[in-house]
Amino acid sequence: PEPQVEPDPTKKTLVILGTGWGSVSLLKRLDTENYNVIVISPRNYFLFTPLLPSCTTGTIEHRSIMEPIRTILRHKKASVRFYEAEASSIDPDRKVVKIFDTSEVRGKITETEVPYDMLVVGVGAENATFGIPGVRENSCFLKEIGDAQKIRKRIMDCVETAAFKDQPAEEVDRLLHMVVVGGGPTGVEFAGELQDFIDNDIKKLIPDISDRLRVTLIEALPNVLPMFSKQLIEYTESTFKEEKINVLTKTVVKKVTEKTVEAEVTGPDGAKETIVLPYGLLVWATGNAVRPVIKDLMARIPAQANSRRGLAVNEYLVVQGTRDIWAVGDCAVAGYAPTAQVASQEGTFLALLFNNMAKTEALETKIKELSSSLNLQPGNSAEISQQIELYERQLRRMKTIKPFRYSHQGNLAYIGMDKAVADVTWFNGNLAAGGSMTYLFWRSAYISMCFSTRNRLLVINDWLKSKVFGRDVSRE
Ligand code: FAD
Ligand code: NAD
Repeated sequence: PEPQVEPDPTKKTLVILGTGWGSVSLLKRLDTENYNVIVISPRNYFLFTPLLPSCTTGTIEHRSIMEPIRTILRHKKASVRFYEAEASSIDPDRKVVKIFDTSEVRGKITETEVPYDMLVVGVGAENATFGIPGVRENSCFLKEIGDAQKIRKRIMDCVETAAFKDQPAEEVDRLLHMVVVGGGPTGVEFAGELQDFIDNDIKKLIPDISDRLRVTLIEALPNVLPMFSKQLIEYTESTFKEEKINVLTKTVVKKVTEKTVEAEVTGPDGAKETIVLPYGLLVWATGNAVRPVIKDLMARIPAQANSRRGLAVNEYLVVQGTRDIWAVGDCAVAGYAPTAQVASQEGTFLALLFNNMAKTEALETKIKELSSSLNLQPGNSAEISQQIELYERQLRRMKTIKPFRYSHQGNLAYIGMDKAVADVTWFNGNLAAGGSMTYLFWRSAYISMCFSTRNRLLVINDWLKSKVFGRDVSRE
């Protein structure tokens, strides 16, 4: 298509914030010819988060799970503008989004405002730390590509520093103690990947210190993976035992320092004890918190006063208390878990809703035009009336768009040693499975869900490469 130089004044401006699961699913199915579409995100790519834990050890290379937003937009019928920027605030009264450039290279203009007629907020969430002292300064998180790269580098830094000449035994033990906080799927999948890396690669390449490497997973609740069935929780915990991953449940981290984690353990008799664990690598995976831009928007909308976990939306994903703002994914509270599955279904729903709204408006205009031409062309009145009736029928059909309903396909998680757990919906029933066959299912499911054929080929290539040659332990 011809690049659109100026926005078309006859069309509404639809601004989409974010390039994650929610926003990109919307973009994928949106008929961009109906609106002046503007996408704003500090990240100029989509990230396939389910395979992010595999990037921390080099099983998968990071670019294999990234898809440039420019490539995605190139395939749209009408041109879409993209601004690499972060939204700092949204003014629902003036209908503008304030944006600023967060990248290293800055031009003369680094912040500005973007007006909208319709706004979709899909900015995701940030990492929860619950204000626990020392977490932000000393931990690695696992949400973005940079986080996975930092962890990969840090693992090898700990290993090489532990192998340094004359390193005292106590320091070797600290450096080789890898602690993961949070027994949700992020923490569990990372712990599994890390233990694989240790067992399959580090042990072979650096055998003299590798038996000192330990992985500890800390979880506040009585068990890991609370969203899975009891049978799969037990299977995961017994697999972790086999892998020699130390799981500490009913253990709440209270403080973090540069080299230690302090936690409170509740014993079987209910007695509480404080433990101090020295660590080399600390990965913090305790779930989501609300982003500042969302908190700011919530504070501007009286109807959001009671919402705590994000923007409360109605069944059409309209932000409660607003008319022209919709929210999708982890920043929206629609009554579902903050997952990619939910975000992508919400994005798809909005695409259909907006496509439908545009068609409805077009039909209404046609009906208006035909109705006024009835007086001007009385000779054709029967024909025109017939046409109006047809359009009205179409309009009634379109206006009955059903509210958003999430369809849960199940939970899947990798737990290490070529094993996965799956709680899936199967012919209206539930199927719980764990083991190597489930791992093959996990692999094929994720391959089929990858964004593009290019991503699929790259991921398969990475899997083959690490199987045949082992993971690359060079520290970039
Ligand atoms: P995101 O995908 O996080 O996207 C948010 C976007 O907004 C990003 O592009 C970001 O750069 C942008 N943004 C941020 N701030 C601003 C701002 N101020 N202005 C503009 N743009 C902004 N879910 C599953 O269902 N299955 C899985 O297997 C799975 N695995 C996961 C593994 C990991 C390691 C993690 C961290 C999560 C996983 N999830 C999984 C959860 C899933 O990734 C999230 O629920 C999903 O990404 C939410 O989509 P979203 O569009 O709301 O946000
Ligand atoms: P989560 O919220 O699912 O789990 C965080 C865990 O950290 C909780 O179990 C909580 O009890 C624990 N925790 C909190 N504070 C703690 C403390 N101080 N000390 C010890 N433990 C503490 O977070 P997540 O795993 O990052 O997942 C976030 C979302 O992404 C979820 O909705 C999840 O389903 C989704 N996700 C899905 C997959 C998958 O399907 N394979 C993978 C990753 C993430």
